[in-house]
Amino acid sequence: MTMKEFKIPLSQPDITDLERRYVMEVLQTPNLSLGPKLPEFEKKVSDYVGTRFAVAVNSGTSALHCCIKSFGIGPGDEVITSPFSFIATSNAALFEGAKPVFVDIDPDTYNIDFRQIEEKITERTKAIIPVHVFGLPAEMDAINKIAKKYNLRVLEDAAEAIGAEYKKRKAGSLGDCAVFAFYPNKQITTGEGGIIVTDNESLAALCRSLRNQGRGDTSGWLQHQRLGYNYRLSDINCALGIAQMERLSEILDKRTRVAQWYLEQLHDVPELTTQQIPANCKKSWFVFVVALSPLYSKKSRDEILSHLRKKGIACSNYFSPIHLQPFMAARFGYKEGDFPVTESLSKRTIALPFFANLSKENVRYVTDVLKNSL
Ligand SMILES: *Cc1c(COP(=O)(O)O)cnc(C)c1O
Repeated sequence: MTMKEFKIPLSQPDITDLERRYVMEVLQTPNLSLGPKLPEFEKKVSDYVGTRFAVAVNSGTSALHCCIKSFGIGPGDEVITSPFSFIATSNAALFEGAKPVFVDIDPDTYNIDFRQIEEKITERTKAIIPVHVFGLPAEMDAINKIAKKYNLRVLEDAAEAIGAEYKKRKAGSLGDCAVFAFYPNKQITTGEGGIIVTDNESLAALCRSLRNQGRGDTSGWLQHQRLGYNYRLSDINCALGIAQMERLSEILDKRTRVAQWYLEQLHDVPELTTQQIPANCKKSWFVFVVALSPLYSKKSRDEILSHLRKKGIACSNYFSPIHLQPFMAARFGYKEGDFPVTESLSKRTIALPFFANLSKENVRYVTDVLKNSL
């Protein structure tokens, strides 16, 4: 993939002198990994979310994998999740030989339609992985109720949702465990990184072992209790994360302000809709995505994307359905038509440039170009 330079990028991390200072401080010590910044970062996140434990790892994908593994999910098992997500949500189950079973989304919130979950549950179902898509929490009370009834685990994929709230409770504190991700396009970044949050002590201990080659808490460097991975997050990354956590509310406020500018410019454009936010949820803005009305074809959406790019505006469709990714379709026989709401939405979405430091002038420019192209 060649990266074209756009005048206005799709996303951009919000890095200040505080982040640079904290990273430099680590570089003045010999503790570049498994040092003091790791527990310090973990505590910042668990305190913020309100969980007892946090286990930082080297990506959101690794965090999902550790959770799946900690649930004891394996070959032949099934997990229920959304086809309208990033591929990692489903891949985490595939890593352990389990099958992702999809449930279509709600057309307004873009989150898993909880009304359709029960009909997909079988003897082999072990977990539900709701995704808080674009930073909007899924219907967690309904999902937890179903999970309880069928004795299933709940893993929140909150990779896009740090700071989001469901009924005044923080995303990440609503299931058995949750993950956040810190790639540079996320609300806050550690360069690469992810974290597991949970109240379950044994699950946290297992994730800690899995990220560190299966070592036990007290066993030596060359003693391995179980099959593990190198999913460690370095202290350099953690220092960056600590600064970002200290600035989290500032960053989220800036992102909310940018989203408001977009909404002001676009609310009266009849061709466009945006994700509907239920009254009991607070969204943490991850991306700014508009959906064209169903009168538009995928082809005309793609023409609009090209037009925006020609005008120096980075943009993207968001997402491509997971069940239609070539390897998924080949392996499980999924086809066009299986999840119509997801498919219809995916053909009509446009993610516009969105980051904390996007200026009001640039929002105006992007929305003017978009309106002209409709
Ligand atoms: C970003 C993301 C992930 C994965 O995070 P990485 O850090 O890129 O591995 C997982 N799920 C969702 C929904 C994401 O958006």
